[in-house]
Amino acid sequence: MLANSLIELDRAHLVHPVASWRGHEKAGVRMLTSAKGATVTDAAGQTLIDGFAGLWCVNAGYGQDSVIEAATRQLRDLPYATGYFGLGSEPPIRLAARLADHAPGDLDHVYFTLGGSDAVDSTVRFARYYWNARGLPQKDQFLSLEQGYHGSSTVGAGLTALPVFHAGFGLPMDWQHKIPSHYTYRNPAGSNPAAVTAASVAQLRAKVAEVGGPDRVAAFYAEPIQGSGGVLVPPAGWMKAMRDVCTELDILFIADEVITGFGRTGPMFACTEDGIVPDMLTCAKGLTSGYVPMGAVILSDRMYQVIADHAGAAAIGHGFTYSAHPVSAAVGLAVLDLYEGGLLDNGRRMGARLQAGLAGLADHPLVGDVRGRGMLAAVELVTDKALKTPLPAAALPAQRIFDRAWNNGLVIRAFGNGVLGYAPPLCCTEAEIDAIVERTRMTLDQTL
Ligand code: PLP
Repeated sequence: MLANSLIELDRAHLVHPVASWRGHEKAGVRMLTSAKGATVTDAAGQTLIDGFAGLWCVNAGYGQDSVIEAATRQLRDLPYATGYFGLGSEPPIRLAARLADHAPGDLDHVYFTLGGSDAVDSTVRFARYYWNARGLPQKDQFLSLEQGYHGSSTVGAGLTALPVFHAGFGLPMDWQHKIPSHYTYRNPAGSNPAAVTAASVAQLRAKVAEVGGPDRVAAFYAEPIQGSGGVLVPPAGWMKAMRDVCTELDILFIADEVITGFGRTGPMFACTEDGIVPDMLTCAKGLTSGYVPMGAVILSDRMYQVIADHAGAAAIGHGFTYSAHPVSAAVGLAVLDLYEGGLLDNGRRMGARLQAGLAGLADHPLVGDVRGRGMLAAVELVTDKALKTPLPAAALPAQRIFDRAWNNGLVIRAFGNGVLGYAPPLCCTEAEIDAIVERTRMTLDQTL
């Protein structure tokens, strides 16, 4: 009864993100009521393994006592402190210092936001400020990748390539440009890693030339692994090659680690594995493991000093009421303790098991590609393996695969193009990882 009345209230009043509003009114909400470790329980009482960690964010797992206690303590001691007027509080200062320690190279200065989209927005503003400060105001064009996702705020959505984030909005897009993704499984350059990387490098150079040369280009954005585009893993050396082009052409390289940060692919930040130091790094999600909202931009010392020197005594007009929120930062510190205290190591072990387990699905008639790194993976479904024929979205809606997996006790992400996405909490046990693989096979068998 209670659940039914909530479904009606939801229909009448709650607007859901990235949803068909009419479709949602018809289907009704599927409610979760509790969660623990790597599992969630729905309103019908079914407990499922959360193979997607909420929305690729609950890296530390649900119900971690130390995180709950840290938040409670901070709520009691000081629930809010602004960073304006020279004020501050202890948790964000400590968190910034620890993030700077983990971030590679001279990524030393942390600007806290509320999530990933406003972190991306902030990088656009910082990039523009930086080029103005360097006397190059004409560097105002931004590049990113097809299949890339960089948030859905007005500015960040511009960098996002996924068509659904543009259809119907008609917002100006003339300042940002896309180059093809590396997408190794379906790359016209073939699947040879060197060829894929060489093609991307050539496409980046060509796009820079097309928009007026390096003097017009402010920045290039890349996720170390493209998440929402379908978990697309670039070949080893791809990030470094793209970074090198940007360095050569004096274009800022921005690594969007909103998904890949905090152990998702193994290390604290994926770009350390790629051996690169971006000019700015964005993160969110695993930063607080989804317990409370928070994101961050980590700026290189090179950029920070140019901006700070140029502004001198004048204020740099960029800030939010909830920048460096003390409760979010207290959660961030408690979550970092967990990562450093063994969770990242467990994630690495479980990540290897997940990749091996999913690779074992390659023999399934519907599976065209299995890819991923660490606790981030995808299985791409096809109707013809040799021809790589994509699953027709209309014939087999993603929602139906999602529902079948759900009925089998597994939460996954089912993308519209027949790609299944995995990003389980790093606290998974071996048995849970094995169950993710087993329940996926069961779901695929029911889909045949
Ligand atoms: N950047 C990337 C790579 C993301 O995956 C996301 C969200 O999934 C964002 C930015 C936007 O983050 P948020 O949803 O916290 O605004």
